[in-house]
Amino acid sequence: MQPYVDPPRRSPDLSVIGAGLATTAITLFIVFWLARQIKDFDIMGWYWLFIIPVGAILVGIGAGSGYGLMSWARGRKISGSLLAVIVALLALAYAAAQWVEFKSLNLERYGVDFFKYFDVTTRSMTFKLMRSHTPSGSLGILGYLFRLLELAGFSLGGLFIPIMLRAKPYCESCLTYMQRSARWWLPAAVPTRKVSKKDPGAMNAYQREMEEAHKKGMDLLNNLVAAVRENDATSVRSILELNAVDTKEANKLLESINLTLHSCAQCRAGVLEMELKAGLADKTKVTPLGREPLSSGFVAALGDIRPRQTRKMS
Ligand SMILES: [Zn+2]
Repeated sequence: MQPYVDPPRRSPDLSVIGAGLATTAITLFIVFWLARQIKDFDIMGWYWLFIIPVGAILVGIGAGSGYGLMSWARGRKISGSLLAVIVALLALAYAAAQWVEFKSLNLERYGVDFFKYFDVTTRSMTFKLMRSHTPSGSLGILGYLFRLLELAGFSLGGLFIPIMLRAKPYCESCLTYMQRSARWWLPAAVPTRKVSKKDPGAMNAYQREMEEAHKKGMDLLNNLVAAVRENDATSVRSILELNAVDTKEANKLLESINLTLHSCAQCRAGVLEMELKAGLADKTKVTPLGREPLSSGFVAALGDIRPRQTRKMS
């Protein structure tokens, strides 16, 4: 008898939608509650450089977090259609929040309907500069532009966490997100040193060394990728053991190649993520150099790779 195996479920899970709606409701309630408690505390009205709706984006991130967190917990892949559903639900939630606010004011007694209320509040929106206490006059029809920015910021901000999750390596056969299981750093620069600008010979030599180190790093990476594609775990091991440096060493270099092994906790298949890091300390730029899929047998054959330079230092 064959054991019965559940077919993989690929439809967007209702629990994902439910969790997203819950975080949306909670976030909007907190915004509403804060506005009631603290005078002039309208998070949705925070702008940066007049036009970037940072407040709405932040609220959107909170509102949309449930979609991302539940997808991660349940191992649901974030599809393009799920992203579209999330944007639509967030836009609906924004409209619903306006309606709830209208209802709470009980204006119908005075013959004011929702659309009248929305139009008046939009046109009478004012713009207050941070730290200044004199608001601009009513924005009039321009208020609609800011409504639109607010709506866009809120619903696109909500995609932030789901899109971050979408970028994570995913195991298609086990339907789960992979986990980071190892990191290695290949040098792509010589150690930085002070070279006098008045000494062109030394400057040239330094520059040449830098270029050579960059080329050596990229060559190592190409050899590594070739070995991965040939399923040659021994060569991959020796390239890393002989050349990789530890993170402290890599952080001191102007350029390094960062390698991250992600693997599936269930079937042990993996993905090797490659990036070029340029710059020092907080001024670094990371450029993706691609991803290579690895079979479970290959990941097992790699085992625990301890670069020699790391061992020497510890
Ligand atoms: Zn797997």
